[in-house]
Amino acid sequence: MPATEHRYQPAHVVDVAVLTPNMIRIVFGGSAPEKLVPSGHSDERVRIAFPAPGLQHAEPPTCIDGQWGYHDLSARNRVRSYTIRRTDPHSRTVTVDFVVHEGGVASQWACRAAPGDTVFMLGPDGWHAPPRETTWQLLIADMTALPALARIAEELPACITAHAIIETHTPDDQQVLRSDAELTTTWYHGTGNGIAPSALPTAVSAYQLPDGPGYVWFAGEASVSRLVRKHARQHWGLPAASFDIIGYWREQEEHWLAQYRTVEAQVLATRQKAITEGKTATEVLEIYDNALEDAGL
Ligand SMILES: Cc1cc2nc3c(=O)[nH]c(=O)nc-3n(C[C@H](O)[C@H](O)[C@H](O)COP(=O)(O)OP(=O)(O)OC[C@H]3O[C@@H](n4cnc5c(N)ncnc54)[C@H](O)[C@@H]3O)c2cc1C
Repeated sequence: MPATEHRYQPAHVVDVAVLTPNMIRIVFGGSAPEKLVPSGHSDERVRIAFPAPGLQHAEPPTCIDGQWGYHDLSARNRVRSYTIRRTDPHSRTVTVDFVVHEGGVASQWACRAAPGDTVFMLGPDGWHAPPRETTWQLLIADMTALPALARIAEELPACITAHAIIETHTPDDQQVLRSDAELTTTWYHGTGNGIAPSALPTAVSAYQLPDGPGYVWFAGEASVSRLVRKHARQHWGLPAASFDIIGYWREQEEHWLAQYRTVEAQVLATRQKAITEGKTATEVLEIYDNALEDAGL
């Protein structure tokens, strides 16, 4: 890539709205909506570089040895993942829905965002990739993954049967999901989302998968994602291509990281051994998950 180009694109706030009590919707213009190349995944993620707390405009990336990016650690520490809820080619905007939570550079920025404020976006990429023969889908999300799930639902073909299991802070955080598919939903309120234990593992355990070829997509808190992945592999016996289970955030991350650092070398060695032994990517992830669990994480 020539040094005159960089993939982080400026995105300016065009509109801010309170979507539901714990979700803020921000519409961005600028060059990002035009220059980000669609990934083809419905759960499209961009990396967003936010300004330091208290500032309105993020610093632009810098170029070192022809490489554009956030080389300064303090700026890099303010890059977070968010979902493109909607792209509008006519108004040349992208929409991102932000969960409001305690602390956090991104959440605090979203709470104060105003038209004209600037961030930088990189991407997008994504995971949602059902096999071609899929006839049903099970979609599971907490509030951070509700934007992705809502977009997945909107982009499902009419021939699919889908069920969505979602947990939100409050009943008023529930959203209307539009879909051409035959979509049913189960909502939980006041669980997970950093406010209470998640209802999703129990809901998943109780769920009877439909017959025929299908696909499971989960996104939400990391420790919940591990339980759901375990259920998908061990109880449902799904092959790797039939599910994508993604940790979007980690509850009490600072505490978790402090504990992780004490076992990091041992856990990484276990994972490296699995890679060296030629295990598949899914097996390596499972071995890594188990090593974390054994370490009490
Ligand atoms: C692929 C992908 C797509 C995502 N899409 C979205 C999206 O569309 N909308 C969205 O809101 N989030 C989304 N997320 C999650 C978001 O990136 C994280 O919640 C991120 O940690 C928020 O950054 P922050 O700076 O606000 O908080 P951080 O600085 O990362 O964390 C600060 C503190 O807040 C806690 N925390 C972080 N997130 C939450 C939360 N949601 N609830 C309660 N406590 C929290 C942490 O444990 C930590 O203690 C996505 C994540 C991924 C990986």
